[in-house]
Amino acid sequence: PVSIMWFRQDLRVKDNPALNAACDMGKIVPIYIYDDTAPNGREPGGASKWWLHHSLSSLNKRLNGHLQIFKGDPQTLIPKLMKSFNAKGIFWNRCYEPWQINRDKTIKKTLIEHEYEAHSCNGSLLWEPMKVLKKDGTPYRVFTPYYKKGCLQVEEPRYPKAPPARITYADVDNDSDGLTSLDLLPSINWDATIEKEWSPGEDGAADNLADFIENSARKYKDGRDIPSANGTSRLSPHLHFGEVSPNQVWYAIKDKFGNSEDKSIETYLSELGWREFSYYLLFHFPTLPNKNFNEKFDKFPWRTDAKALKAWQKGNTGIPIVDAGMRELWQTGYMHNRVRMIVGSFLVKNLLLSWHEGERWFWDTLLDADLASNSASWQWVAGSGADAAPYFRIFNPILQGEKFDKKGNYVRKYCPELKKLSDKYIHKPWEAPSAILKDAGIELGKEYPKPIVDLKASRQRALDAFQTLKE
Ligand code: FAD
Repeated sequence: PVSIMWFRQDLRVKDNPALNAACDMGKIVPIYIYDDTAPNGREPGGASKWWLHHSLSSLNKRLNGHLQIFKGDPQTLIPKLMKSFNAKGIFWNRCYEPWQINRDKTIKKTLIEHEYEAHSCNGSLLWEPMKVLKKDGTPYRVFTPYYKKGCLQVEEPRYPKAPPARITYADVDNDSDGLTSLDLLPSINWDATIEKEWSPGEDGAADNLADFIENSARKYKDGRDIPSANGTSRLSPHLHFGEVSPNQVWYAIKDKFGNSEDKSIETYLSELGWREFSYYLLFHFPTLPNKNFNEKFDKFPWRTDAKALKAWQKGNTGIPIVDAGMRELWQTGYMHNRVRMIVGSFLVKNLLLSWHEGERWFWDTLLDADLASNSASWQWVAGSGADAAPYFRIFNPILQGEKFDKKGNYVRKYCPELKKLSDKYIHKPWEAPSAILKDAGIELGKEYPKPIVDLKASRQRALDAFQTLKE
């Protein structure tokens, strides 16, 4: 019998439970559907589309050109494809965005009513959200008990599967709309710098994982906080698109380092746990991307300030570590986690702009833009989330810069106009005496902006605003 293998956020051949199950049944037709009907304006952002294009192209090569690509609503397309391919069944790995869950349920129901087989598997999470609950049957809201008492006690994550011994493709007409019909690549050529840094696809993911294990894993605990160092695994876009499963990452680490008590290894595994927690929150609290988790924040006096928002987006706030981060994002489609927290705190606290503004900008510009991780993280930064940063923790971007980018290497890389400024002033150029600025070839307000807010005054303004939540 012929089965359809519906690839979604699992663009890989290794450790792909749905693909294995489909191949066990016999011949397959591998398909991908670009769902341009995704509701709530949640079409992938520009950076994600770029990645998706290259990832699909890479998967198609692995499948010897057999991937059939369509554009449209899967609810109408799939029943038609089942018929035209004369398929008996369809296999997919589950996705967890609320609209995807509803859509997939409907598709499954329709197919089963028409006596087709429809099977879904878990190919994206170490622990599926419905399996981890508190004793009273309600979901966890705090990370540490969720991870330690929940996940780690529930079951060991599944060991990765070997790829199918053989993939036999059904001999069907190629009805594919083709990759180019999806129109995922930008019309303006902004992707040259991104292309240099990233290799979308299963091989690129495996390379990053191997490189991380070899060079950075043992030093992760401290290395992960230094934005100029190559201290993290840079697997996030690969994980988002499922070019590697979290199980492959988890066991690549465990197999290499054993059940190590090493803090670096533990910390890295728990970061995978944060990814799980984000999906968990989105599953149990599906309004996470749109509504404050903590309702108190519904009355929060966010400002609107288009000029300040633009300065933040473009990396022209006059605060070097913030600008370096925002420019890293623009140029490479990625931003280091430490700096994401700094630019986030600056936006929602110093500028007092809503976390939704940050979430939207990241959605469009991050290669790893992910509904679960992005909304959970932004709510964490704003203080409105589950297990969030306390509102009174307002990062001081000068101190953060001086601590995590001591020599200013990261700032100099992305704000080259500050290159000649000494380490002492690299994170606070406005405090430099005019002779020093002159020597470094900088006139504030010309080569590099003056700060768009006073850090001390804006910190107080934020504390006052947060105080209103208590009243
Ligand atoms: P590593 O340090 O090597 O971590 C390994 C993996 O663990 C990551 O690839 C990621 O899948 C997961 N992970 C690590 N930290 C987190 C975290 N805090 N939350 C959830 N998962 C985590 N991550 C995304 O994947 N997509 C997003 O859209 C996203 N938006 C964010 C927005 C803000 C404001 C903040 C503060 C963080 C956001 N993160 C997001 C989380 C984190 O910054 C990235 O996952 C991480 O920087 C990716 O780099 P890496 O793969 O080298 O991470």
